[in-house]
Amino acid sequence: MSGKEKLRFDGRVAVVTGAGAGLGREYALLLGSRGAKVVVNDLGGSPKGEGASQRAADVVVDEIRKSGGQAVADYNSVIDGAKVIETAIKAYGRVDILINNAGILRDRSIIKTSEQDWNLVHDVHLKASFNCTQAAFPHMKAQNFGRIIMTSSNSGIFGNFGQANYSAAKMGLVGLANTVAIEGQKNNIHCNVIIPTAASRMTEGIMPEMLFNELKPNLIAPVVVYMCHESCEDNGSYIESAAGWATKVHMVRGKGAVLRPSLQETVTLENVQNAWNKVTDMSKTTHLNTIAEASGTLLEVLEKLNSNG
Ligand code: NAD
Repeated sequence: MSGKEKLRFDGRVAVVTGAGAGLGREYALLLGSRGAKVVVNDLGGSPKGEGASQRAADVVVDEIRKSGGQAVADYNSVIDGAKVIETAIKAYGRVDILINNAGILRDRSIIKTSEQDWNLVHDVHLKASFNCTQAAFPHMKAQNFGRIIMTSSNSGIFGNFGQANYSAAKMGLVGLANTVAIEGQKNNIHCNVIIPTAASRMTEGIMPEMLFNELKPNLIAPVVVYMCHESCEDNGSYIESAAGWATKVHMVRGKGAVLRPSLQETVTLENVQNAWNKVTDMSKTTHLNTIAEASGTLLEVLEKLNSNG
C-alpha cells in the first residue's frame, strides 16, 4: 500500500447506465462507496431487451443507501438519453461522470439477423451512448470537468460468430469515443473506452464454468472507476480488463509500400500484387495518435514520389 489518500468522489455526480446488474452494478456500488452521488439507470428488461422493471435499479439504489451512500433510480431506456441525464440534474443539479454501460444481445448469424435485431442492438449500445453523452456534454462543458466511459468489446475488435450487430455497434463506440475525446479535451472532459470480459447474465452459459467464476465484474470496476477520477489524465484510451488484469490497447499501422514508381504513373493491379507482402507486413508497426499524424505520413509518401520524378 502506498501512503496516498484513498481516491474519493465527494461532490461528484455519476450516471451509470444499465447499473441494475453485472458490471454497471459494480461501478455504481464502488462510486457510491467513495462519495459520489449515483444515478442508477436501468430499464430492467431481459438480456434481449424485452420488457421492463423498476426492481433492477431499485435494488442497487437500496444497496448504496444502506451502505451510507447517495443514489437515485432512473428507469428510462438509455435510448432516451436526455431523460436519463435530466434525472441527474433534477436530483443533484449536475453530472460529472457518465458511464455508458447498458447493453443487450440479439445474437444471430448474418443471414438470420433481422432489421429489428440490428436496429435495437445499435440503438441500445451506440445511439444511446451518443444520446446520453450529448445530453451530458453541455453540463460538463459549463463546469469544465467531465469523465465519460464508452463500453466496447473484444467482439467488436476481433469479431465473433453470430454477433454482427453487436460487433458493429461495439466498434462504433470506439469511433464515438475517439471524437468525444477530441471535442472534450479543452474543457477537461475525458472519454475513455473499457473492453471488459466479465461473468454476467450476458456471458452465462457461453464460457467454461471455471473461467466464468474467475471473471468477477467487481475486479473490473476499480479500473473503470479510476478512469472516472479527476486524477486520471488519460483521454481517448482503450483499456481492456478482466480477472484482475488491465492493459491499454492500440491500433497500429504497418510500414506499408509505395505502389507506383513516380507521381506521373498510376497504380496497376500488378503493382499491388507485387507489393502485397510489404503492404501486409506487420513486423514493424507504428502507433498513430491523431488523424494529423496519419495524414502526415501520406504527405511523406507524396514527397518521396515527387522526388522520384
Ligand atoms: P448485464 O446484462 O448483466 O447488464 C446490462 C444491464 O443493462 C442490465 O441490467 C440491463 O437491464 C441494462 N439495460 C439493457 N438495456 C437497457 C436500456 N435500454 N436502458 C437501460 N438499461 C438497459 O451485462 P454486463 O455483462 O454487465 O454488460 C455491461 C456492458 O458491458 C454491456 O454494454 C456489454 O455489452 C459490455 N460487455 C460485457 C462483456 C462481458 O464479458 N460481460 C464483454 C464485453 C462487453
